[in-house]
Amino acid sequence: MTRHFDLAVLGGGSGGIATARRAAQHGAQVALIEAGELGGTCVNVGCVPKKVMWHAADMAHAFEDAAGYGFDLTPPTLDWGRLVERREAYIRRLNGIYASNLDKDGVTVFAARGELLAPGRLQTGEDEITADHVVIATGGLPRWPQLPGCALGTDSDGFFALTDRPDRVAVVGAGYIAVELAGMLAALGSRVSLLIRRDRVLRGFEPMLGDTLLERMQADGVDVVTNTDVEALTEEGESVRARFKQGGEGVYDTLIWAIGRVPNTHGIGLDRVGIEPHSDGTVPVDDYQNTRAAGIYALGDVTGRAELTPVAIAAGRRLSDRLFGGQPDRHLDYANIPTVTFSHPPIGTVGLTEAEARERFDAVRIYDSQFVNLCYGVLDRKPVSRMRLVCAGAEEQVVGVHVIGEGADEMLQGFAVAVRMGATKADFDNTVAIHPTAAEEMVTMT
Ligand code: NDP
Repeated sequence: MTRHFDLAVLGGGSGGIATARRAAQHGAQVALIEAGELGGTCVNVGCVPKKVMWHAADMAHAFEDAAGYGFDLTPPTLDWGRLVERREAYIRRLNGIYASNLDKDGVTVFAARGELLAPGRLQTGEDEITADHVVIATGGLPRWPQLPGCALGTDSDGFFALTDRPDRVAVVGAGYIAVELAGMLAALGSRVSLLIRRDRVLRGFEPMLGDTLLERMQADGVDVVTNTDVEALTEEGESVRARFKQGGEGVYDTLIWAIGRVPNTHGIGLDRVGIEPHSDGTVPVDDYQNTRAAGIYALGDVTGRAELTPVAIAAGRRLSDRLFGGQPDRHLDYANIPTVTFSHPPIGTVGLTEAEARERFDAVRIYDSQFVNLCYGVLDRKPVSRMRLVCAGAEEQVVGVHVIGEGADEMLQGFAVAVRMGATKADFDNTVAIHPTAAEEMVTMT
Protein backbone atom coordinates (compact mmCIF):
# COMPACT_ATOMS: atom_id res chain seq x y z
CA MET A 1 0.00 0.00 0.00
CA THR A 2 1.34 3.44 -0.89
CA ARG A 3 1.27 5.77 2.10
CA HIS A 4 0.57 9.43 1.58
CA PHE A 5 2.14 12.29 3.52
CA ASP A 6 1.80 16.05 3.50
CA LEU A 7 5.58 16.31 3.46
CA ALA A 8 8.42 13.93 2.67
CA VAL A 9 11.93 14.98 3.63
CA LEU A 10 14.90 13.35 1.95
CA GLY A 11 17.77 13.43 4.43
CA GLY A 12 17.86 13.27 8.22
CA GLY A 13 20.59 15.81 8.92
CA SER A 14 20.27 19.16 10.65
CA GLY A 15 18.16 20.73 7.90
CA GLY A 16 15.93 17.75 7.22
CA ILE A 17 15.15 17.06 10.87
CA ALA A 18 14.39 20.72 11.58
CA THR A 19 12.05 20.91 8.57
CA ALA A 20 10.27 17.68 9.47
CA ARG A 21 9.75 18.52 13.12
CA ARG A 22 8.51 22.06 12.49
CA ALA A 23 6.06 20.78 9.85
CA ALA A 24 4.80 18.08 12.22
CA GLN A 25 4.40 20.68 14.98
CA HIS A 26 2.16 22.58 12.56
CA GLY A 27 0.05 19.43 12.23
CA ALA A 28 1.42 18.02 8.99
CA GLN A 29 1.83 14.28 8.36
CA VAL A 30 5.55 13.98 7.75
CA ALA A 31 7.91 11.29 6.44
CA LEU A 32 11.65 11.59 6.99
CA ILE A 33 13.90 9.36 4.91
CA GLU A 34 17.43 8.68 6.15
CA ALA A 35 19.56 5.61 5.56
CA GLY A 36 22.39 6.60 7.88
CA GLU A 37 22.54 7.80 11.46
CA LEU A 38 20.15 10.59 12.35
CA GLY A 39 21.81 13.99 12.60
CA GLY A 40 23.70 13.84 9.32
CA THR A 41 27.11 15.38 8.84
CA CYS A 42 26.93 17.83 11.74
CA VAL A 43 26.28 15.31 14.47
CA ASN A 44 28.11 12.29 13.10
CA VAL A 45 31.14 13.46 11.13
CA GLY A 46 31.16 17.23 11.39
CA CYS A 47 30.53 20.02 13.87
CA VAL A 48 29.92 17.90 16.96
CA PRO A 49 32.83 15.42 16.90
CA LYS A 50 35.02 18.25 15.56
CA LYS A 51 34.16 20.45 18.53
CA VAL A 52 34.96 17.60 20.94
CA MET A 53 38.38 17.23 19.30
CA TRP A 54 38.81 21.01 19.34
CA HIS A 55 38.18 21.06 23.10
CA ALA A 56 40.73 18.27 23.53
CA ALA A 57 43.22 20.31 21.51
CA ASP A 58 42.43 23.38 23.59
CA MET A 59 43.21 21.37 26.73
CA ALA A 60 46.49 20.28 25.22
CA HIS A 61 47.40 23.95 24.69
CA ALA A 62 46.45 24.67 28.30
CA PHE A 63 48.73 21.87 29.53
CA GLU A 64 51.59 23.41 27.55
CA ASP A 65 51.02 26.76 29.20
CA ALA A 66 50.37 25.38 32.69
CA ALA A 67 54.00 25.67 33.82
CA GLY A 68 53.87 29.41 33.13
CA TYR A 69 51.04 29.60 35.64
CA GLY A 70 53.09 27.76 38.26
CA PHE A 71 51.71 24.28 37.78
CA ASP A 72 54.15 21.41 37.92
CA LEU A 73 52.60 18.84 35.61
CA THR A 74 54.18 15.63 34.53
CA PRO A 75 53.81 15.78 30.73
CA PRO A 76 50.26 14.57 30.13
CA THR A 77 49.74 11.76 27.65
CA LEU A 78 46.75 11.36 25.40
CA ASP A 79 44.84 8.11 25.05
CA TRP A 80 43.41 8.87 21.61
CA GLY A 81 41.34 5.68 21.61
CA ARG A 82 39.64 6.65 24.86
CA LEU A 83 38.93 10.16 23.57
CA VAL A 84 37.36 8.71 20.42
CA GLU A 85 35.34 6.17 22.43
CA ARG A 86 33.88 8.87 24.67
CA ARG A 87 33.22 11.17 21.72
CA GLU A 88 31.37 8.43 19.85
CA ALA A 89 29.32 7.51 22.94
CA TYR A 90 28.23 11.14 23.16
CA ILE A 91 27.24 11.09 19.49
CA ARG A 92 25.21 7.90 19.95
CA ARG A 93 23.33 9.68 22.76
CA LEU A 94 22.60 12.56 20.39
CA ASN A 95 21.39 10.14 17.68
CA GLY A 96 18.96 8.73 20.27
CA ILE A 97 17.73 12.19 21.23
CA TYR A 98 17.04 13.00 17.56
CA ALA A 99 15.09 9.75 17.17
CA SER A 100 13.00 10.37 20.26
CA ASN A 101 12.28 14.00 19.31
CA LEU A 102 11.07 12.92 15.87
CA ASP A 103 8.96 10.24 17.51
CA LYS A 104 7.47 12.73 19.98
CA ASP A 105 6.49 15.01 17.10
CA GLY A 106 4.90 12.11 15.23
CA VAL A 107 7.31 12.10 12.27
CA THR A 108 7.48 8.73 10.47
CA VAL A 109 11.13 7.82 9.91
CA PHE A 110 12.07 5.54 7.01
CA ALA A 111 15.55 4.12 7.69
CA ALA A 112 16.49 3.52 4.06
CA ARG A 113 17.78 5.41 1.06
CA GLY A 114 15.18 7.44 -0.74
CA GLU A 115 14.79 8.49 -4.33
CA LEU A 116 12.32 10.53 -6.30
CA LEU A 117 10.38 8.46 -8.82
CA ALA A 118 8.28 11.37 -10.07
CA PRO A 119 7.10 14.67 -8.60
CA GLY A 120 5.46 13.78 -5.27
CA ARG A 121 6.34 10.07 -5.50
CA LEU A 122 9.29 8.46 -3.74
CA GLN A 123 10.78 5.03 -3.21
CA THR A 124 12.40 4.30 0.13
CA GLY A 125 13.69 0.79 0.65
CA GLU A 126 10.71 -1.48 0.01
CA ASP A 127 8.19 1.32 0.47
CA GLU A 128 6.72 3.66 -2.04
CA ILE A 129 5.24 6.86 -0.65
CA THR A 130 3.56 9.93 -2.06
CA ALA A 131 3.69 13.46 -0.67
CA ASP A 132 2.23 16.87 -1.50
CA HIS A 133 5.56 18.49 -0.74
CA VAL A 134 9.09 17.09 -0.92
CA VAL A 135 12.19 18.62 0.64
CA ILE A 136 15.65 17.66 -0.56
CA ALA A 137 18.05 17.99 2.35
CA THR A 138 20.63 15.37 1.46
CA GLY A 139 23.67 17.42 2.45
CA GLY A 140 27.18 17.00 1.09
CA LEU A 141 30.15 14.66 0.98
CA PRO A 142 33.91 15.27 1.05
CA ARG A 143 35.38 16.15 -2.33
CA TRP A 144 38.14 13.86 -3.60
CA PRO A 145 40.73 14.77 -6.20
CA GLN A 146 41.33 12.64 -9.27
CA LEU A 147 44.98 11.74 -9.29
CA PRO A 148 47.07 8.57 -9.18
CA GLY A 149 46.91 6.86 -5.80
CA CYS A 150 44.48 9.41 -4.31
CA ALA A 151 42.63 6.61 -2.49
CA LEU A 152 45.72 6.15 -0.29
CA GLY A 153 44.63 9.35 1.41
CA THR A 154 41.53 9.79 3.51
CA ASP A 155 39.00 12.57 4.15
CA SER A 156 37.39 14.25 7.14
CA ASP A 157 35.16 11.19 7.67
CA GLY A 158 38.37 9.16 7.80
CA PHE A 159 39.83 11.55 10.36
CA PHE A 160 36.92 10.79 12.68
CA ALA A 161 37.46 7.07 12.11
CA LEU A 162 41.11 7.20 13.27
CA THR A 163 41.56 4.95 16.28
CA ASP A 164 45.14 6.05 16.94
CA ARG A 165 46.86 9.36 16.69
CA PRO A 166 48.85 9.50 13.47
CA ASP A 167 52.41 10.69 13.95
CA ARG A 168 53.05 12.45 10.62
CA VAL A 169 50.00 13.93 8.93
CA ALA A 170 49.49 15.95 5.77
CA VAL A 171 46.30 17.95 5.50
CA VAL A 172 45.61 19.09 1.94
CA GLY A 173 43.38 22.12 1.52
CA ALA A 174 42.93 25.72 2.56
CA GLY A 175 39.36 25.99 3.83
CA TYR A 176 37.54 25.54 7.11
CA ILE A 177 38.12 21.82 7.41
CA ALA A 178 41.81 21.93 6.50
CA VAL A 179 42.73 24.58 9.05
CA GLU A 180 40.55 23.06 11.75
CA LEU A 181 42.00 19.57 11.32
CA ALA A 182 45.57 20.85 11.06
CA GLY A 183 45.20 22.87 14.26
CA MET A 184 43.65 20.02 16.23
CA LEU A 185 46.10 17.39 15.11
CA ALA A 186 49.10 19.62 15.85
CA ALA A 187 47.83 20.43 19.33
CA LEU A 188 47.17 16.76 20.02
CA GLY A 189 50.75 15.86 19.19
CA SER A 190 50.89 14.93 15.50
CA ARG A 191 53.55 16.40 13.23
CA VAL A 192 51.39 18.24 10.74
CA SER A 193 52.08 19.56 7.25
CA LEU A 194 49.39 21.78 5.78
CA LEU A 195 49.68 21.53 2.01
CA ILE A 196 48.08 24.51 0.27
CA ARG A 197 48.05 25.14 -3.44
CA ARG A 198 48.39 28.93 -3.11
CA ASP A 199 50.05 31.07 -0.44
CA ARG A 200 47.16 31.64 1.95
CA VAL A 201 44.23 29.96 3.67
CA LEU A 202 40.57 30.95 4.03
CA ARG A 203 40.73 33.07 0.91
CA GLY A 204 37.09 34.18 0.98
CA PHE A 205 37.57 35.69 4.43
CA GLU A 206 39.02 39.07 5.44
CA PRO A 207 42.69 38.48 4.47
CA MET A 208 44.00 39.52 7.90
CA LEU A 209 42.33 36.43 9.39
CA GLY A 210 44.05 33.85 7.21
CA ASP A 211 47.39 35.65 7.45
CA THR A 212 47.24 35.78 11.24
CA LEU A 213 46.13 32.16 11.39
CA LEU A 214 49.10 31.01 9.33
CA GLU A 215 51.46 32.94 11.65
CA ARG A 216 49.89 31.33 14.69
CA MET A 217 49.81 27.84 13.19
CA GLN A 218 53.46 28.07 12.24
CA ALA A 219 54.29 29.19 15.78
CA ASP A 220 52.41 26.11 16.99
CA GLY A 221 54.63 23.91 14.87
CA VAL A 222 52.47 23.31 11.79
CA ASP A 223 54.60 23.00 8.69
CA VAL A 224 52.75 25.21 6.20
CA VAL A 225 53.76 24.16 2.69
CA THR A 226 52.57 26.82 0.22
CA ASN A 227 52.14 26.78 -3.57
CA THR A 228 52.04 23.02 -3.59
CA ASP A 229 49.79 20.67 -5.54
CA VAL A 230 49.82 16.98 -4.84
CA GLU A 231 50.40 15.12 -8.10
CA ALA A 232 50.33 11.49 -7.00
CA LEU A 233 50.33 9.26 -3.94
CA THR A 234 52.19 5.99 -3.62
CA GLU A 235 52.43 3.43 -0.87
CA GLU A 236 55.52 3.54 1.36
CA GLY A 237 55.18 0.58 3.74
CA GLU A 238 52.44 1.59 6.17
CA SER A 239 52.80 5.21 5.06
CA VAL A 240 51.99 7.26 2.01
CA ARG A 241 54.38 9.22 -0.18
CA ALA A 242 53.04 12.37 -1.81
CA ARG A 243 54.74 13.71 -4.90
CA PHE A 244 54.28 17.41 -5.62
CA LYS A 245 53.71 18.94 -9.05
CA GLN A 246 56.19 21.70 -8.26
CA GLY A 247 58.84 19.11 -7.35
CA GLY A 248 59.64 17.57 -3.99
CA GLU A 249 57.70 15.06 -1.94
CA GLY A 250 56.67 14.15 1.57
CA VAL A 251 56.00 10.92 3.49
CA TYR A 252 53.11 10.78 5.96
CA ASP A 253 51.29 8.22 8.07
CA THR A 254 48.01 9.80 7.06
CA LEU A 255 47.13 12.24 4.30
CA ILE A 256 43.75 13.95 4.61
CA TRP A 257 42.00 15.53 1.64
CA ALA A 258 40.17 18.65 2.85
CA ILE A 259 39.63 20.34 -0.49
CA GLY A 260 35.93 21.11 -0.24
CA ARG A 261 32.65 19.24 -0.26
CA VAL A 262 30.26 18.20 -3.00
CA PRO A 263 26.47 18.05 -2.88
CA ASN A 264 25.01 14.62 -2.20
CA THR A 265 22.56 14.19 -5.06
CA HIS A 266 23.72 10.97 -6.68
CA GLY A 267 20.83 8.56 -7.23
CA ILE A 268 18.09 10.68 -5.70
CA GLY A 269 16.21 11.06 -8.99
CA LEU A 270 16.61 14.77 -9.70
CA ASP A 271 16.41 14.03 -13.43
CA ARG A 272 13.01 12.38 -12.97
CA VAL A 273 11.50 15.57 -11.60
CA GLY A 274 13.13 17.99 -14.01
CA ILE A 275 15.69 19.52 -11.65
CA GLU A 276 18.93 20.37 -13.40
CA PRO A 277 21.78 20.94 -10.95
CA HIS A 278 24.26 23.81 -11.27
CA SER A 279 27.60 22.88 -12.84
CA ASP A 280 29.04 22.25 -9.34
CA GLY A 281 26.22 19.80 -8.66
CA THR A 282 24.31 21.98 -6.19
CA VAL A 283 20.53 22.18 -6.44
CA PRO A 284 19.29 25.61 -7.60
CA VAL A 285 16.70 27.24 -5.34
CA ASP A 286 15.10 30.67 -5.09
CA ASP A 287 14.89 32.79 -1.92
CA TYR A 288 12.04 30.57 -0.68
CA GLN A 289 13.95 27.28 -1.15
CA ASN A 290 11.75 26.43 -4.16
CA THR A 291 13.40 24.35 -6.85
CA ARG A 292 12.14 24.70 -10.37
CA ALA A 293 9.90 21.65 -9.83
CA ALA A 294 6.56 22.56 -8.23
CA GLY A 295 6.20 21.16 -4.71
CA ILE A 296 9.90 20.26 -4.43
CA TYR A 297 12.22 22.32 -2.28
CA ALA A 298 15.88 22.05 -1.31
CA LEU A 299 17.88 23.42 1.59
CA GLY A 300 21.15 23.03 3.43
CA ASP A 301 24.50 21.95 2.00
CA VAL A 302 22.92 20.40 -1.09
CA THR A 303 22.10 23.93 -2.27
CA GLY A 304 25.66 25.13 -1.67
CA ARG A 305 24.46 28.29 0.08
CA ALA A 306 26.33 29.03 3.35
CA GLU A 307 27.00 25.40 4.24
CA LEU A 308 26.39 25.71 7.95
CA THR A 309 24.11 23.71 10.24
CA PRO A 310 22.20 26.70 11.68
CA VAL A 311 21.55 27.96 8.15
CA ALA A 312 20.00 24.65 7.12
CA ILE A 313 17.93 24.58 10.33
CA ALA A 314 16.75 28.15 9.91
CA ALA A 315 15.88 27.63 6.22
CA GLY A 316 14.01 24.41 7.03
CA ARG A 317 11.97 25.82 9.89
CA ARG A 318 11.00 28.85 7.83
CA LEU A 319 10.01 26.65 4.91
CA SER A 320 7.73 24.57 7.14
CA ASP A 321 6.25 27.75 8.64
CA ARG A 322 5.52 28.88 5.10
CA LEU A 323 4.04 25.59 3.88
CA PHE A 324 2.15 24.51 6.98
CA GLY A 325 2.15 27.40 9.44
CA GLY A 326 0.16 30.00 7.53
CA GLN A 327 3.16 32.33 7.05
CA PRO A 328 3.26 32.66 3.26
CA ASP A 329 6.19 35.07 3.16
CA ARG A 330 8.48 33.33 5.62
CA HIS A 331 11.97 32.65 4.30
CA LEU A 332 15.57 32.93 5.40
CA ASP A 333 17.56 36.11 4.87
CA TYR A 334 21.02 34.85 3.93
CA ALA A 335 22.74 38.20 4.63
CA ASN A 336 24.94 38.67 7.68
CA ILE A 337 25.30 35.03 8.61
CA PRO A 338 27.93 34.79 11.33
CA THR A 339 30.43 31.95 11.17
CA VAL A 340 33.26 30.63 13.29
CA THR A 341 36.22 28.59 12.18
CA PHE A 342 37.38 26.35 15.00
CA SER A 343 41.00 26.76 14.17
CA HIS A 344 43.64 27.36 16.84
CA PRO A 345 43.05 30.15 17.60
CA PRO A 346 39.43 30.44 16.51
CA ILE A 347 38.15 32.93 13.96
CA GLY A 348 34.80 34.70 14.02
CA THR A 349 33.39 36.67 11.16
CA VAL A 350 30.12 38.32 10.15
CA GLY A 351 29.20 40.69 7.37
CA LEU A 352 31.35 42.20 4.68
CA THR A 353 35.08 42.08 4.20
CA GLU A 354 36.82 45.38 3.53
CA ALA A 355 37.02 44.57 -0.20
CA GLU A 356 33.31 43.71 -0.38
CA ALA A 357 32.37 46.89 1.47
CA ARG A 358 34.48 49.04 -0.87
CA GLU A 359 32.62 47.57 -3.83
CA ARG A 360 29.26 48.50 -2.32
CA PHE A 361 29.86 51.78 -0.51
CA ASP A 362 31.70 55.01 -1.30
CA ALA A 363 32.73 55.75 2.26
CA VAL A 364 34.36 52.87 4.07
CA ARG A 365 36.35 53.17 7.26
CA ILE A 366 38.35 50.38 8.80
CA TYR A 367 39.19 50.05 12.49
CA ASP A 368 41.88 47.58 13.47
CA SER A 369 43.05 46.28 16.79
CA GLN A 370 45.97 44.02 17.57
CA PHE A 371 46.77 42.86 21.08
CA VAL A 372 48.15 40.05 23.18
CA ASN A 373 45.41 38.37 25.19
CA LEU A 374 45.85 38.85 28.93
CA CYS A 375 46.08 35.08 29.36
CA TYR A 376 49.59 35.34 27.87
CA GLY A 377 50.62 38.11 30.29
CA VAL A 378 52.47 35.69 32.57
CA LEU A 379 53.67 33.42 29.79
CA ASP A 380 56.74 33.67 27.62
CA ARG A 381 54.89 33.25 24.34
CA LYS A 382 53.02 36.32 23.15
CA PRO A 383 50.75 35.38 20.24
CA VAL A 384 48.60 38.16 18.86
CA SER A 385 44.86 38.46 18.48
CA ARG A 386 43.48 40.75 15.78
CA MET A 387 40.14 42.42 15.14
CA ARG A 388 38.77 44.48 12.33
CA LEU A 389 35.58 46.50 12.06
CA VAL A 390 34.42 47.45 8.58
CA CYS A 391 32.24 50.55 8.73
CA ALA A 392 30.27 52.15 5.90
CA GLY A 393 28.59 55.48 5.15
CA ALA A 394 28.58 58.78 6.99
CA GLU A 395 26.99 57.07 9.99
CA GLU A 396 29.76 54.49 10.06
CA GLN A 397 27.41 51.54 10.19
CA VAL A 398 29.32 48.43 11.19
CA VAL A 399 28.90 46.14 8.19
CA GLY A 400 31.68 43.68 9.00
CA VAL A 401 33.23 42.25 12.16
CA HIS A 402 36.28 40.01 11.89
CA VAL A 403 38.22 38.57 14.79
CA ILE A 404 40.91 36.00 15.35
CA GLY A 405 42.14 35.06 18.78
CA GLU A 406 41.20 33.34 22.01
CA GLY A 407 37.49 33.71 22.67
CA ALA A 408 36.57 34.76 19.12
CA ASP A 409 34.22 31.79 18.87
CA GLU A 410 32.06 32.81 21.82
CA MET A 411 32.44 36.53 21.21
CA LEU A 412 30.87 36.73 17.81
CA GLN A 413 27.23 35.82 18.36
CA GLY A 414 26.32 39.01 20.20
CA PHE A 415 28.18 41.20 17.74
CA ALA A 416 26.29 39.45 14.93
CA VAL A 417 23.05 40.67 16.54
CA ALA A 418 24.46 44.20 16.59
CA VAL A 419 25.46 44.04 12.91
CA ARG A 420 22.08 42.65 11.96
CA MET A 421 20.37 45.50 13.82
CA GLY A 422 22.44 48.05 11.92
CA ALA A 423 24.63 49.20 14.81
CA THR A 424 27.04 52.06 14.10
CA LYS A 425 30.57 52.54 15.32
CA ALA A 426 29.14 55.11 17.75
CA ASP A 427 26.86 52.39 19.19
CA PHE A 428 29.90 50.20 19.71
CA ASP A 429 31.80 53.11 21.34
CA ASN A 430 28.85 53.97 23.58
CA THR A 431 28.72 50.43 24.94
CA VAL A 432 30.64 50.17 28.20
CA ALA A 433 33.51 47.70 27.95
CA ILE A 434 33.66 44.51 30.01
CA HIS A 435 37.08 44.39 31.60
CA PRO A 436 39.34 42.48 31.37
CA THR A 437 38.19 40.56 28.32
CA ALA A 438 39.32 40.29 24.73
CA ALA A 439 35.86 41.36 23.59
CA GLU A 440 36.27 44.80 25.16
CA GLU A 441 38.66 45.63 22.32
CA MET A 442 35.63 45.54 20.06
CA VAL A 443 34.11 48.61 21.74
CA THR A 444 37.33 50.55 22.32
CA MET A 445 38.79 50.79 18.81
CA THR A 446 39.97 54.18 17.60
P1 NDP B 1 36.05 24.99 1.73
O1 NDP B 1 35.26 25.27 0.53
O2 NDP B 1 35.91 25.85 2.94
O3 NDP B 1 37.61 24.97 1.37
C1 NDP B 1 38.17 24.14 0.47
C2 NDP B 1 39.42 24.82 -0.05
O4 NDP B 1 40.38 23.86 -0.44
C3 NDP B 1 39.15 25.64 -1.28
O5 NDP B 1 38.64 26.89 -0.93
C4 NDP B 1 40.49 25.69 -1.97
O6 NDP B 1 41.24 26.79 -1.46
C5 NDP B 1 41.14 24.39 -1.51
N1 NDP B 1 41.16 23.43 -2.62
C6 NDP B 1 40.17 23.14 -3.48
N2 NDP B 1 40.55 22.21 -4.36
C7 NDP B 1 41.82 21.91 -4.07
C8 NDP B 1 42.76 21.01 -4.60
N3 NDP B 1 42.47 20.24 -5.65
N4 NDP B 1 43.98 20.95 -4.04
C9 NDP B 1 44.29 21.72 -2.98
N5 NDP B 1 43.44 22.58 -2.42
C10 NDP B 1 42.21 22.67 -2.95
O7 NDP B 1 35.73 23.48 2.02
P2 NDP B 1 35.79 22.61 3.33
O8 NDP B 1 35.69 21.23 2.85
O9 NDP B 1 36.91 23.00 4.20
O10 NDP B 1 34.44 22.99 4.05
C11 NDP B 1 33.20 22.87 3.35
C12 NDP B 1 32.20 23.81 3.96
O11 NDP B 1 31.71 23.24 5.17
C13 NDP B 1 32.76 25.16 4.36
O12 NDP B 1 32.80 26.07 3.31
C14 NDP B 1 31.83 25.56 5.46
O13 NDP B 1 30.71 26.20 4.91
C15 NDP B 1 31.43 24.24 6.09
N6 NDP B 1 32.19 24.02 7.34
C16 NDP B 1 31.96 24.86 8.39
C17 NDP B 1 32.65 24.70 9.56
C18 NDP B 1 32.37 25.63 10.68
O14 NDP B 1 31.34 26.28 10.68
N7 NDP B 1 33.28 25.76 11.64
C19 NDP B 1 33.66 23.65 9.73
C20 NDP B 1 33.85 22.86 8.56
C21 NDP B 1 33.14 23.04 7.41
P3 NDP B 1 42.25 27.59 -2.45
O15 NDP B 1 41.46 27.89 -3.67
O16 NDP B 1 42.64 28.81 -1.66
O17 NDP B 1 43.38 26.65 -2.71
